Amino acid sequence: MNQVTVGSTGITVNKNGFGALPIQRVSQEDAVVLLKKAYDGGIRFFDTARSYSDSEEKVGEAFDGIRTNLYIATKTAAKTGEELVKDLELSLHNLRTDYIDIYQFHNIEFCPKPGDGSGLYEAMLQAKAQGKIRHIGITNHRLMVAREAIESGLYETLQFPFSYLSTEKDLELVTMCKEHNMGFIAMKSLAGGLINKSDAAYAYAAEFDNVLPIWGVQKESELDEFISYVTNPPVMTDRIMRIIEADKAELSGNFCRGCGYCMPCPVGIEINNCARISLMLRRAPSDRWLSKEWQNKMGKIDDCIHCNQCMSKCPYGLQTPELLAKNYEDFKNVLAGKVKVQ
Ligand code: SF4
Ligand code: SF4
Repeated sequence: MNQVTVGSTGITVNKNGFGALPIQRVSQEDAVVLLKKAYDGGIRFFDTARSYSDSEEKVGEAFDGIRTNLYIATKTAAKTGEELVKDLELSLHNLRTDYIDIYQFHNIEFCPKPGDGSGLYEAMLQAKAQGKIRHIGITNHRLMVAREAIESGLYETLQFPFSYLSTEKDLELVTMCKEHNMGFIAMKSLAGGLINKSDAAYAYAAEFDNVLPIWGVQKESELDEFISYVTNPPVMTDRIMRIIEADKAELSGNFCRGCGYCMPCPVGIEINNCARISLMLRRAPSDRWLSKEWQNKMGKIDDCIHCNQCMSKCPYGLQTPELLAKNYEDFKNVLAGKVKVQ
């Protein structure tokens, strides 16, 4: 069994966390079954967020009565100290608990610090003094904010996108966290669905002894794979190395990583998914991506005002509006049956 200690928090768990974002898309009953099954299978770290609609309530129902046997991390997108206090009370209520193990600022645009005028960090400290939270963390998609958070010494954990498609700069954060005894919680370890071999993703993450990957789980079959890794953790082999190299070769260059650094878009285009829909249609079952919901999201590309804000923020130098247009064209062809995908 692979264990990881999450930085200075002292939290030591199986290197196999449960990301509770996708359970928003299943019923309360099905979500509770999944969460309980994860617990019974040995998973002990569960990550949710105030903004994941009813995810916290589902986690709360699943673990009512066994709270102390596991760790719960949640997040707030509060912009002021007062908002944070309200968010925290609601999260505690939803989660049916009187404490959160790791309370995280959710993809915040700046690194909150005491005395910065927002009152955010002070509210975290107060909540900690009251025993309502045990550790203070931050989640982000921005390298600059992540680096600042690590260097500030104010945070015990960083949650950041991490997979074998990550750039060298992203991977530097893992080393920095280790040097600062800060926990590194890896989100998007399947690169938002682009990586379709979970054993390869797991084996890669296992090479980093301070990384706790959290897997976004929606289906029982996905969960079963991760539960099997509790007792049989995949290790790096020649076969897995070949998968990783092939994926890196296929997904190098002009492809959207889904990081979201370029957002928000002033007309509300979900760039981090719409700019890579062609890949998603081919690397995952296409049905979900062709749904009415996604047709509407892709349709928003027609509203692009070519302000180029996205392009100027993309760290990979992508011609984002052009990439969106190309993906939209392909999407329409697949939808019309002119181009076949699996
Ligand atoms: S266009 Fe660039 S910044 Fe935007 S999600 Fe894709 S890779 Fe990230
Ligand atoms: S160029 Fe288009 S997609 Fe990019 S931010 Fe502007 S409106 Fe949004």
